[in-house]
Amino acid sequence: MGEPYKKQYAQELFDTREGMDSLRFYTNGLFVDMCEGPHVADTGELPADGFKLRSIAGAYWRGSEKNDMMTRIYAWAFKSKDELKEHRRRWQEAQARDHKKLGKELGIYTISEEIGKGLPLWMPNGTVIRDELEKYMRELEFKDGYKRVATPHIAKTDLYHKTGHLPYYKEGMYPFMHIKEGEGDEGTTTYVLKPMNCPHHHMIFGAEKRSYRDLPLRLAEYGHCYRYEDSGSLSGLLRVRGMCMNDAHIYCAAESIQEEFLAVMEMHRVLYEKLGIHDYYMRLSTWDPEDPKGREKYVDNPAAWEDTQVRVREAMKESGLPFDEVKGEAAFYGPKIDFQFKTVTGREETASTNQLDFAIPEKLNLVYTASDGTEQHPYVIHRAPAGTHERFVAFLIEHFAGAFPTWMAPVQVKIIPVGESFTAYGEQLENELRGEMVRAELDRSSETMGKKVRTAIKQKIPHMLVIGEKEMSANTVTVRRYGSEDQQTIPFPQFKDQLATTIRTRALDAARIF
Ligand SMILES: [Zn+2]
Repeated sequence: MGEPYKKQYAQELFDTREGMDSLRFYTNGLFVDMCEGPHVADTGELPADGFKLRSIAGAYWRGSEKNDMMTRIYAWAFKSKDELKEHRRRWQEAQARDHKKLGKELGIYTISEEIGKGLPLWMPNGTVIRDELEKYMRELEFKDGYKRVATPHIAKTDLYHKTGHLPYYKEGMYPFMHIKEGEGDEGTTTYVLKPMNCPHHHMIFGAEKRSYRDLPLRLAEYGHCYRYEDSGSLSGLLRVRGMCMNDAHIYCAAESIQEEFLAVMEMHRVLYEKLGIHDYYMRLSTWDPEDPKGREKYVDNPAAWEDTQVRVREAMKESGLPFDEVKGEAAFYGPKIDFQFKTVTGREETASTNQLDFAIPEKLNLVYTASDGTEQHPYVIHRAPAGTHERFVAFLIEHFAGAFPTWMAPVQVKIIPVGESFTAYGEQLENELRGEMVRAELDRSSETMGKKVRTAIKQKIPHMLVIGEKEMSANTVTVRRYGSEDQQTIPFPQFKDQLATTIRTRALDAARIF
């Protein structure tokens, strides 16, 4: 009585019958509540300093504005004051590192209502970070024998029917474009923004006659994809509708799967180490032969499933990286390996998804001539160690708290003259550094030196060069690093050499990794 919402909820469960099993009651002495529980019998059981009311907010019952407005109370409750304190510290840290907040403050990206929801625009600073990351991935891929390709943003929908993505994947795609290219109904062609790069790369594989000598063929592209995510789920750079993926497809014979997968995992390890990411593991998603809906969910080829899973699992063991396994989460065309990260708040995120595909090459009739002269379908490894730029940069903003290592930092050096009379010396340093492709900027404002330093710190610029009379006359610079109060006066050529090494080796000199 007096609980209209609980009554309505119970009634709905009762009406549908389906949910009746989920109705729970919790009893505490004479008090019975329709609730999962548990409840304490007495508030005296709670440590008075273990909880904290945080905030309140209005929320419509069941999320509909036609319903009553309710009050939602946010609180933290822990067993002890220390646990609460630790949680609060992590929470504050997470707030400070939030990629949406820092993304705006540091000029990394913006979202314009006039362009559209979920379609981030990369600002100059964000573009530097993307470009540097992309350049690094290109180098790793080049060393591993990848070849780069470039493909358009759209394709005919027929292609996705052939691969089997349609009709199942339709909801995840932007609406189709029907374009009249000839006479009558026959003359209409349907195109769609590509939700993935694979079929485009497959067409490149199929464009030439391939022999076993050409394999493994590794085609790489930072490819743009579009997925029509629900507007309610869109969030900053983490959930978007337009994304650019560190994609590649490796076409190989069965006997190379293990070796290729191993190289892919090694590339992940090298990348993550370069960025100081240590808290990650791999998750192998396999098919579930007992799933009653298995025939709809997975390509019906039990032998291929068993064979490929063994090969992938062996490669994972050999890599020495930690992994676990979940049944029933595979892609419809083969086993999947996700790389899972823990964020600052302890939230788990999928940073990269890799799949082995034994079905689509057959559907698209991709073949190569084997050493015995027969035509065979290749296996395809889909891999994306740096995921999408959107997701990966969001993660990196939080990981580095916006203070990127020098090689990725949008502005690497800020030159701060203590007065106007040193502007010319500042310009000379700026030109010299820019001549060596260093992103150096001279602060030309008429602010005080203290204000200029504070601005550079706010922008999280890794190196500040303070210059005045002493520096100008001796061709030296007073260097201050972001995150440190120390400063050191050294000859300018020495600074330049040190900086060049830091950038060339892509040193992990970020000030704040969690
Ligand atoms: Zn793919």
